[in-house]
Amino acid sequence: MAREVGPKCRVCRREGMKLFLKGERCLTEKCAIERRSYPPGEHGRGRIKQSEYLLQLREKQKARRYYGLLEKQFRIYYSKAARGSGITGETLLRMLETRLDNVVYRLGFAASRAQARQLVRHGHFMVNGRRVNIPSYQAKPNDVVTMKSGSSAEQVIRDATDLTASVAPWLQADHDGLTGKVLKWPERAEIDTPVQESLIVELYSK
Ligand code: SF4
Repeated sequence: MAREVGPKCRVCRREGMKLFLKGERCLTEKCAIERRSYPPGEHGRGRIKQSEYLLQLREKQKARRYYGLLEKQFRIYYSKAARGSGITGETLLRMLETRLDNVVYRLGFAASRAQARQLVRHGHFMVNGRRVNIPSYQAKPNDVVTMKSGSSAEQVIRDATDLTASVAPWLQADHDGLTGKVLKWPERAEIDTPVQESLIVELYSK
């Protein structure tokens, strides 16, 4: 399973905002953005020449890293979104949001998307009663996501629910029963991903 490796906090510092890649640590004062909110590297505090391309590139990188995808995977999502009939940027975000690993994270069953991905990969979740271990599985309205009964990760999942104050409005979660449901396709206004998707579309449309 290909995934981006390397220091996660460095990624947040590069994008200049919290991307919540490390679970509980992101909610504490140990967060690197709280302590060093400038870009990493020797010239991190130097002046960066802004350009239209740089803005578009950073927005794409931010979205890609937020969802923990490699460039190739992200581009495939963009191609599928561009072929669809809706607004490309919104379709792209909707497809990313409804990935099973993201749904598990949004339901509060994992402390981070990386943890959600691993839990799914290791077969700790079922969708509509069937075990699904593909993080990119595209969830759809009325899908019911449950922890596999007898899962060895139950305590990890319960601990993660303690970090979650609320779930996205397009989802419904039962943290006692460790069950969740996709109520509908997410609207753009219900997706709190901090990106301007139009810049990503501009970048890939060149
Ligand atoms: Fe990002 Fe979390 Fe690291 Fe803060 S602690 S910089 S939010 S990964």
